[in-house]
Amino acid sequence: MRKIETSQSLFERAKKVIPGGVNSPVRAFKAVGGDPLFIKSAQGAFMTDADGNQYIDMINSWGPMILGHAFNKVEEAVAEAIKSSLSFGAPSEKEVDIAELITETIPSIEKVRMVNSGTEATMSAIRLARGYTKRNKIIKFEGCYHGHGDSFLIAAGSGAMTLGVPDSPGVTKGVAEDTLTAKYNSLESVQSLVSANKDEVAAIILEPVAGNMGCVLPKEGFLEGLRELCDQEGIVLIFDEVMTGFRLAFGGAQELFGVNADIVTYGKIIGGGMPVGAYGGKQEIMDFVAPSGPVYQAGTLSGNPIAMSAGYAVLSHLRDNPSIYTELEKTTQKIVEGIQANLDELGLNYTMNQVGSMFSLFFTDEKVVDLDTAKTSDTEKFGKYFKGMLDEGVYLAPSQYETLFVSTEISNDLVQQFVEANKKVLEKIK
Ligand SMILES: *Cc1c(COP(=O)(O)O)cnc(C)c1O
Repeated sequence: MRKIETSQSLFERAKKVIPGGVNSPVRAFKAVGGDPLFIKSAQGAFMTDADGNQYIDMINSWGPMILGHAFNKVEEAVAEAIKSSLSFGAPSEKEVDIAELITETIPSIEKVRMVNSGTEATMSAIRLARGYTKRNKIIKFEGCYHGHGDSFLIAAGSGAMTLGVPDSPGVTKGVAEDTLTAKYNSLESVQSLVSANKDEVAAIILEPVAGNMGCVLPKEGFLEGLRELCDQEGIVLIFDEVMTGFRLAFGGAQELFGVNADIVTYGKIIGGGMPVGAYGGKQEIMDFVAPSGPVYQAGTLSGNPIAMSAGYAVLSHLRDNPSIYTELEKTTQKIVEGIQANLDELGLNYTMNQVGSMFSLFFTDEKVVDLDTAKTSDTEKFGKYFKGMLDEGVYLAPSQYETLFVSTEISNDLVQQFVEANKKVLEKIK
């Protein structure tokens, strides 16, 4: 048996002084049962908890550690930057370097503003879209997560035409009324919202590949259809690529699917493990942001030199080594094929979704294409699977409705180890 005494005593201490004992709810093991593990260190593909147990890491800090933990170039860049103080509150060269790198490599981005999290990026992006279009409403999709900004914490009403209701206490009715909720992969549900709110919709925001209801791919024509609709109606199309940016390809989902958004939001990989987000797009729109334009958005620590050094080290490494993306995809396919072989052998009919280095195993035999179908999953079974995998030394995301991320540190041996663990656990819980 794994010893988890140290994690448990840390969690007891944490619960007394931090709400729920964690600084982000997804870290708690609420969805799977049990208490969170406290992590002490990580290196390459592995994380080590406070009791010294080692795990193959399949979350990679929820995406950022695409090159694995403590990647040499990144650690060196940070160590070098630290010598010159941690923050200036004035412009520095690294901010220009990273903005040039992004605008030179991502065709849809002419200007970019750095912020401190994905949440800040999406909040700022919709404020900008509203300021630019002089319209108030936004359309989001059921099951898409865009951080914890008020406008995004809205569940769908009973019908597609009903106004949103707050998903969380503390979100006002006024805010909820400006957020319309459509069904992922259903262009019709978007079209009817747009018709019912003619000339009132400022932006459509979505995860071009959804990762926050588990991994859900856009149906063929879905992204293209949204692009067309936005062009017709003068709506700003926002791709929230906080998860998919620099992950599915260097140019993210925009590159992979060949559809460009008007504004793109980033987070996760862009900071290489440091707290960074960004939003960027066409110059005409971005020039609406203060101080060049009237839409206010600011940040004391935005463009922080340490964070920019980490981000630049990761992004430049990915840009200079494009074969990483084909390698990551190959590794991921091997894992997915291994799991599929296990499922077939055991006569189980669960659903696998995968794109690039993102994948999810859903404990349902339905095709998962949106939130409703994702919700057919047996979450109790997932909880058992999660715990079983931990015991086998594999750290998964502690919820059925998350995506797993493969890093470049996952070798063929580790693929093998993962697939064997998967088989052993599925056998036990099936
Ligand atoms: C993680 C995530 C966010 C929120 O980013 P934070 O840095 O946690 O604020 C927003 N959108 C998507 C798609 C995400 O995956």
